[in-house]
Amino acid sequence: MKLALIGFGQAGGKIVDEFLAYDSAIDNSFVEAAIAVNSATTDLQGLDHVPQENRVLIGQARVKGHGVGADNELGAEVTEADIDELQGAIDRVPVHEIDAFLIVAGMGGGTGSGGAPVLARHLKRIYTEPVYGLGILPGTDEGGIYTLNAARSFKTLVDEVDNLLVFDNDAWRSAGESVGSGYDRINREIVERFGLLFAAGEVGQNDHVAESVVDSSEIINTLENGVSTIGYASETVESANEGLLSSFRSDTEFDEGTATNRMTSLVRKATLGRLTLPCDAASADRGLVVATGSPEHLNRKGVERGRQWLEDETGSMEIRGGDYPIPGRDDVGAIVLLSGVTAVPRIDQLQQVAIEAQETTESVRANAQEDFATLVDTGGELDALF
Ligand code: GDP
Repeated sequence: MKLALIGFGQAGGKIVDEFLAYDSAIDNSFVEAAIAVNSATTDLQGLDHVPQENRVLIGQARVKGHGVGADNELGAEVTEADIDELQGAIDRVPVHEIDAFLIVAGMGGGTGSGGAPVLARHLKRIYTEPVYGLGILPGTDEGGIYTLNAARSFKTLVDEVDNLLVFDNDAWRSAGESVGSGYDRINREIVERFGLLFAAGEVGQNDHVAESVVDSSEIINTLENGVSTIGYASETVESANEGLLSSFRSDTEFDEGTATNRMTSLVRKATLGRLTLPCDAASADRGLVVATGSPEHLNRKGVERGRQWLEDETGSMEIRGGDYPIPGRDDVGAIVLLSGVTAVPRIDQLQQVAIEAQETTESVRANAQEDFATLVDTGGELDALF
């Protein structure tokens, strides 16, 4: 499906940059337009792929290009104030050619955390196309303020977008990795999963096995509302010299049973393995199974079985399925999109920690005010100058 991507803040910009690299590497062009928005000049300069004219600096009057720190209320304010500048960049997007907007933001910081919900509300008011969010949750080790920001941003953004797709940094970090290289790896994981999903809806009608190819409307219907998470599993299917053999293989020699079993097991692995937002898959309201790989390795029965398995697992009658054929790939994969999920322990924990952080912050502030008053107070013994 065709998307207008808007990366908000540092994480949002970097991930959109990565989406652009992925989009050109797979030669698919599901990215119709890409915009990066930030209140920090250096973050915008650090991007590689977002076109210069689509890098929008906001909040210059307030923060002079230095960013908003981790103050997401300020992030929301400067976005509101500079929404016309943002609209100027959006005006250049051929909106009639896109299927949806996707706003990408780290929820624990300031600019993206506060700005993404403001932009989502603005887009919803002006356009009829769906507006999706891709929200990145902070690691639990990032501290109280990031958790509080993320919990407030989540609460706000989920009401402003049609669907909030979530990726949890905490579930994907590796021990012993530096923050920088960690994010590079994580960003590739994010883009591979969400990129494959959106690219799947962009396969032309004339492509292989066209009748079972996933259509963008199936993705849109699955993303009708709520919160979503993605699972992905893949395996290599062909050794180097098999490529030659396969050119002699006729259609009847295609091993239907192996392909079906492989796909069913990949769907299970994708669903029960590490999701972008870990949750109880059974709580999903809707789902979509996409089989990826070279067309000669995909069969309809495999997707159908995988789809049925997910139906049983979730108890939902709204599980869609289809192919994303990618000729020449030597691996077969399953993407599982779970939407309308409700049993998400990570969100409960995030909210709990955020409430505690908010209470602590309030009492520390009140104490600090009292302490300061005591510090300055001389019991009326000294007069101020004026
Ligand atoms: P902003 O620029 O004020 O919107 O804030 P940032 O985007 O720098 O940071 C917000 C949060 O995003 C951080 O707390 C991290 O959890 C996360 N983050 C920052 N950079 C990256 C990145 O490159 N990739 C990922 N996955 N998360 C990031």
